[in-house]
Amino acid sequence: MTLNNAHTHIPLELAGRINELAAQVSRPANLAQADKAVLIARIKTLLKQHNAQIVAHYYVDAQLQALAEETGGVVADSLEMANFGAQSNADILVVCGVRFMGETAKMLSPEKTILMPDLNATCSLDVGCPAHEFAAFCAQHPQHTVVVYANTSVEVKALADWVVTSGNALQIVRHLKAQGEKIIWAPDQHLGRWIEKETGIEMLRWMGHCIVHDEFKAFELEQLKREHPDAKVLVHPESSESVVALADVVGSTKVLINAVQTLPDETFIVATDHGIFYKMRQLAPHKKLIVAPTDSKTTQCISCAHCPWMAMNSLQNLADVLEKQDQKIEIDESIRVQALRSVQRMLDFSRAQGLVKAK
Ligand code: SF4
Repeated sequence: MTLNNAHTHIPLELAGRINELAAQVSRPANLAQADKAVLIARIKTLLKQHNAQIVAHYYVDAQLQALAEETGGVVADSLEMANFGAQSNADILVVCGVRFMGETAKMLSPEKTILMPDLNATCSLDVGCPAHEFAAFCAQHPQHTVVVYANTSVEVKALADWVVTSGNALQIVRHLKAQGEKIIWAPDQHLGRWIEKETGIEMLRWMGHCIVHDEFKAFELEQLKREHPDAKVLVHPESSESVVALADVVGSTKVLINAVQTLPDETFIVATDHGIFYKMRQLAPHKKLIVAPTDSKTTQCISCAHCPWMAMNSLQNLADVLEKQDQKIEIDESIRVQALRSVQRMLDFSRAQGLVKAK
């Protein structure tokens, strides 16, 4: 791997592995309405029976989001998911999302059983930042404060001083800048670059990427904007610089949902995973939502605006895991304690700033 003073790139073979992993994911089968109804009834019974709650991300299937809300769980971004899980009185949390979200839940609630519909649901940012390579990078810059995005393994979090999400990264980096800290940022290069621009700080950035947001294309987005001149463009900061430059609103999932709900505009072009449309439609049912383009004439999309690993969560494997309790998150206790410091620091900061609900 090439290291230099500015940024560090993930090796080509790792980038290839990420695409391979994404291509191997098998999407859940479409079920008939009657079968879905049977599964939903079974899940509701099992949740009650085991004092379990669903903690779901905005990017998972709409039916899972609806079920989480209906049964006293939560649908949220990764920051609020962590906060909700830590404050829940359930014995079991079923995390419908990707693996690092389950690990964060376990870190914060070691006494709870943390289940996931499929433990193989990963994230390209997590895969693109192996702990041993990141440790070597950090060791070269011992004077730097290490800030990592939530989309990392528990082992990487154990190397960090701070964990951040897209919902609090700006505030935390501003806070560190005010204290004169030098920062290592990992793993999302685009989010890191956007934070640098917004805060005026320069960071040593790990050059990972999200395969979903990295695929939105500026040229096609400009064309789409011309076809919909009244539309507002909403972009998640994990997207490339050229796409972010075309945005009317840039922000976390929560910020983008809020924009659809509160702005007076009728039409929105949305550059993030289209799983978010469930919540946007729920809060603003009359607004028109258009998926930002991911194709270009020369390439085929891998994600097509929907994360292949988020899509691994289904009614079927949710029901199965509640029944068998076999897809359980387990973390080595010493790593958990080490990683917890940076996650807890983030939650305490976010609660103090009113970014998440305090109990
Ligand atoms: S959408 Fe991107 S950042 Fe989110 S889980 Fe999927 S690959 Fe990771």
